[in-house]
Amino acid sequence: MRIRVNPDKCQGHSRCIGLAPDLFDVDDYGLSSVKVDVVPEHLEQAARLAVDNCPEYAIEIVEE
Ligand code: SF4
Repeated sequence: MRIRVNPDKCQGHSRCIGLAPDLFDVDDYGLSSVKVDVVPEHLEQAARLAVDNCPEYAIEIVEE
C-alpha cells in the first residue's frame, strides 16, 4: 500500500500524525507529508485510520 497527502487539501490539523506517527511528518507550517515509500503491512490499519479521519480528505491511498 502507498499513500500520499494532497498538499492543496491539507490544513495542518495534525490528526494523521497523532493517529499514525510512524507514517507522517509535519513541516514548519504544520502541514503533513508521508514519510514512507511503502506502508509496512503492520501499519496499514493505521494508514486507513488516518485516511478515514482526515477532516480535509487530504490523504489518499495511491496503490493497494
Ligand atoms: S489530518 Fe489531514 S489535514 Fe490534518 S495534517 Fe493530516 S493530512 Fe493534513
